[in-house]
Amino acid sequence: MKKYVYFFGNGKAEGSGSMKELLGGKGAGLAEMTNLGIPVPPGFTITTEACIEYYNNNKQYPEGMWEQALEALKRLEETVGKKFGDPKNPLLVSVRSGARVSMPGMMDTVLNLGLNDETVKGLAEVSNNERFAYDSYRRFIQMFSDVVLGIEHGKFERILDKVKEEKGVKYDTDLDAEDFKKVVDLYKKLVEQELGKPFPQDTMEQLKLAINAVFDSWNNQRAITYRKINKIPDNWGTAVNIVAMVFGNMGNDSGTGVAFTRNPSTGEKEFFGEFLINAQGEDVVAGIRTPEPIAKLKEEMPEVFKQLEEVYKKLETHYKDMQDIEFTVEKGKLYLLQTRSGKRTARAAVKIAYDMYKEGLIDKKTAVLRVKPEQVDQLLHPMIDPNEKYEVLAKGLPASPGAAVGKVVFTAEDAEIWAEKGEDVILVRNETSPEDIGGMNAAKGILTATGGMTSHAAVVARGMGKTCVAGCGAIKIDEEKKQFEVDGKVIKEGDYITINGSTGEVILGKVKLIMPELSGEFAEILKWADEFRKLGVRTNADTPKDSQVARDFGAEGIGLCRTEHMFFEGDRIDAVREMILSDTEEGRRKALEKIKPYQKEDFIGIFKVMDGLPVTIRLLDPPLHEFLPHTDEDIEKVSKASGIPADKLKAKVEELKEFNPMLGHRGCRLGITYPEVYEMQVYAIMEAACECKKEGVDVKPEIMIPLVGHYKELAILKEMVDRVAKEVMESYGVNIDYLVGTMIELPRAALTADEVAQYAEFFSFGTNDLTQTTLGLSRDDSGKFLPLYVEKGIYKEDPFVSLDQSGVGQLVEMGVKKGRSTRPELKTGICGEHGGDPDSIFFCHKIGLNYVSCSPYRVPVARLAAAHAALLEEN
Ligand code: PEP
Ligand code: MG
Repeated sequence: MKKYVYFFGNGKAEGSGSMKELLGGKGAGLAEMTNLGIPVPPGFTITTEACIEYYNNNKQYPEGMWEQALEALKRLEETVGKKFGDPKNPLLVSVRSGARVSMPGMMDTVLNLGLNDETVKGLAEVSNNERFAYDSYRRFIQMFSDVVLGIEHGKFERILDKVKEEKGVKYDTDLDAEDFKKVVDLYKKLVEQELGKPFPQDTMEQLKLAINAVFDSWNNQRAITYRKINKIPDNWGTAVNIVAMVFGNMGNDSGTGVAFTRNPSTGEKEFFGEFLINAQGEDVVAGIRTPEPIAKLKEEMPEVFKQLEEVYKKLETHYKDMQDIEFTVEKGKLYLLQTRSGKRTARAAVKIAYDMYKEGLIDKKTAVLRVKPEQVDQLLHPMIDPNEKYEVLAKGLPASPGAAVGKVVFTAEDAEIWAEKGEDVILVRNETSPEDIGGMNAAKGILTATGGMTSHAAVVARGMGKTCVAGCGAIKIDEEKKQFEVDGKVIKEGDYITINGSTGEVILGKVKLIMPELSGEFAEILKWADEFRKLGVRTNADTPKDSQVARDFGAEGIGLCRTEHMFFEGDRIDAVREMILSDTEEGRRKALEKIKPYQKEDFIGIFKVMDGLPVTIRLLDPPLHEFLPHTDEDIEKVSKASGIPADKLKAKVEELKEFNPMLGHRGCRLGITYPEVYEMQVYAIMEAACECKKEGVDVKPEIMIPLVGHYKELAILKEMVDRVAKEVMESYGVNIDYLVGTMIELPRAALTADEVAQYAEFFSFGTNDLTQTTLGLSRDDSGKFLPLYVEKGIYKEDPFVSLDQSGVGQLVEMGVKKGRSTRPELKTGICGEHGGDPDSIFFCHKIGLNYVSCSPYRVPVARLAAAHAALLEEN
C-alpha cells in the first residue's frame, strides 16, 4: 500500500526536510523541525501525491489515504491526550495547504477545526476559559464557511462589526464570552440562511470537507495565476497538513507572530518581525489590529523571546539560509508552526549571501547561487519606491528596466530643448527612429505606442540604460495636438507621467523613485561569479561612454558595435545623404571621404576605452532609405539646408522604398552593391587601430559582416577587408592582429555554417534577426499580437526576449557545430538581445558558445547568469 500520510510528533517525524516534493514546503519544514527537537505541535501531512491522484481520480481520494489519515489522527489523539470530537476534552486541528514552493496566501487554511455546539462547551471547561472557547468557535465558523462552504468572508465581518459597535468597542479583544456566544449564534443563522442547512456539526465531516477544500484550492483562480507568473508547474499539487491546534488566543500570556531571521528588505543581520498578543494567526495578516514589532516581545515575554532567539538561530544555522518563521505562544509556551527560506529583495539577497559567506555559513558557490540573475536588474536602475501607491493608466512591454518620471513631450527635438532647460522629460512616440537618438538620450524615459521588445526604441534604450515602455497599444498619440489619449483620459504635453520599464506600467503623475546602488558587496559577489563562469561576457556598445559604463560593470570587450548611429550624428548626416543621392561611384566616394574622419574618431575613442580587450565592429547594416527624410515637411527642410532639390530627394526616397525593408537591401547586400561604403568603414577602423597602436593602446579589432546568407558574400567582402587592412598597415608600418567574421542571423547562414566558417574567424549569432527570420515574425510589428500569444502559452515567453530554444536554438546549436567542423578554433558568441537574458545565457553555456554580449547595464546580470549556468551544471 502506498504511503500517503506522514506523522510527526514527540520529537520524531516520519518525513524530513529533504522531502519537499512529497510533503510540500510546510510539511517538510514541520518534519525537519520536529527532528531537530524544536517545539512543534504534533500532526501529520497528506502528500502532494495524494492530491495529484485525487485530481486524476475524478476528485476521489486514492485508495488507503483516508484510512491512513484516520490512523494518524488516532496517533495524534494519543500524543496530545485529547480526542477529536470529544465533547469533554476535544482535540482541535488546523488544516493547511503546502506546495513544494511557497505560494503565499494563494491556497486555503482552516484553523480550530473540530469545534461544534458540544465540543465548544468541553473546550470552555477544560481551559477554564469560556471566552477563549467561543472566540475560537466563531473564528472556526467564519473561516470554515469562507474557505470550505464558499460563504463570503465580509458577511461575517459585518456581523462582528455590528456586535462591536453595539457594545461600543473597537477591538475583538474587548469582547467577552457572552458577546462571542452571540456572534456564534448570528454566524450559524447566517450559514443556515446562505446554505439552506445548518453548519456541519459532525467533526469527521468537517475534516473531510476541509481536506477537499485544500486539495481544490490548488486549482482556484489565484493559485493558477500565481503559478503562471512564477512558472510553477500545474501538476505538482499541494500537500495537506493537519496539526494539533495551539492557541495564541488564550489570554495575555499568549500570542502569535511571524518573523524573518534577517531583514528581508535590507538584508541586515537582525531579527525582524511582528507579533500580536492574545490572537490567532489570521489576525496578524488581517490588519484589524496593528501588530507590534518583535523587539517588544522581549519586553513583554522575555523568557519566550530568549527561547525564540535560540530557535531562530538554530534554524538559520541548520538551513544555512534566511528563514521566514511563524510561531504561536500558548500560555507562555512557544511553538513553531512553520519555517521556510524567506523571500527577499535583490538588495537583501546580495547582503545576506555576502554576510553568510563571511560568517562561514555557506561557501562561495552557494553565495553566488543565492543571488538570482533576474533580480539583479533591480540593483542597477532607479525603481519605484515600494511604499508608493499609484494608479496604472496603461500597460505596454517592459522594454528597458528601471523607472522614470518626467513631463510628456512628443518629438525628439522637444525632448532635447526641454532637457536643456533642466526639465525631466518622457519622450512619447509611436515608434522611434535613428533620428530620435538625441532626444532619447536627453529624455529620462521613452514610451512608444507600437514596436516590440527589439524595436528601435527598446534596443537603443537598453543600450543607454534608459527606462523604456514599448508597444503600449492603449495610448493613442496625436502629434499635431501634442497629446495622447488612454481610455478617454487626455494627457497633454508637459503633463507628468511615470513609466516603469521593469513592468511596462504607465502611470499618471509623479511617483517617488529610489536610486539603488551597486554596493561593494555586490561587486564582490560578481567577482566570485567570474571565478566560476565559463562564458565570456562582452557588451553591445556604440560610443566611448557606453563602452566605459560596460567596462566598469565588468565587460570583457565589445561584442557588437553598431556603426549606423555614427552616420546620424551632427552634420555627418548631410554627407551621408550626399552619398546616397549621388549617381556615380565617384560621387559616393567623395561624400564618404567626408564621413571617414568622424568614423575614425569614434573608433579611436572606443579602442582607447577598451584598451587590451577585443572590439567587434559591425559594418553598416540598415537600408539606405533610413537615412533619408520621409515626410514632405522633412524633405522640404533637408532640401533647404542641403541645396538638393526636393523632387530629387523625393524621387530617391521612392526609388529606395521597399515592401519589406527588414528583408531588403541591407547588411552585407549593401557592401556587395556599394563596396565603397564598407571600404570606407574598414579604412576608418584600420587607420584608427594603427594610430592607437602607435600611441601604445592595445587594440584588438574584429570586423564583422552582417546579414550573410551565402558564404560567397562573405568571401567577397573578406577579400576586400584583408586588402584594405594590408594597405593601411603597410602605410602605417604597423601590424594589427585583427579578425574578420560574420553575424549568423539568417537561417541559411546557420544551415551552411560549415561553408561560411571557411571565411569567418568568428561567428556572432544575431538572434534578433535570426528569430525574426526563423519565425517569420517581424520584430517591429509583433508587439501587436505577441503578448496574446504569450498569454495563451503558445510561446512561453516573448521569443525576442528569451531565446526560442527549441526552434531558433536549434539553428544556433547547429551553426556552432557546423562552423567548428570546418574551423575548430572558431570563436562563437551571441549579440542579439538574448545575450542579456538569464535563460538564454544558460542555453548559450550549454551549447558551448565562447561569449555572450549584451547592453552595458545587463553585463552584471550576464556575469551572474553565466556563473549560475556553470554551477548548476556541475551539481
Ligand atoms: C541581431 O539581429 O540580433 C543583431 C544583433 O543585429 P541588429 O539588432 O542590429 O539587427
Ligand atoms: Mg541583425
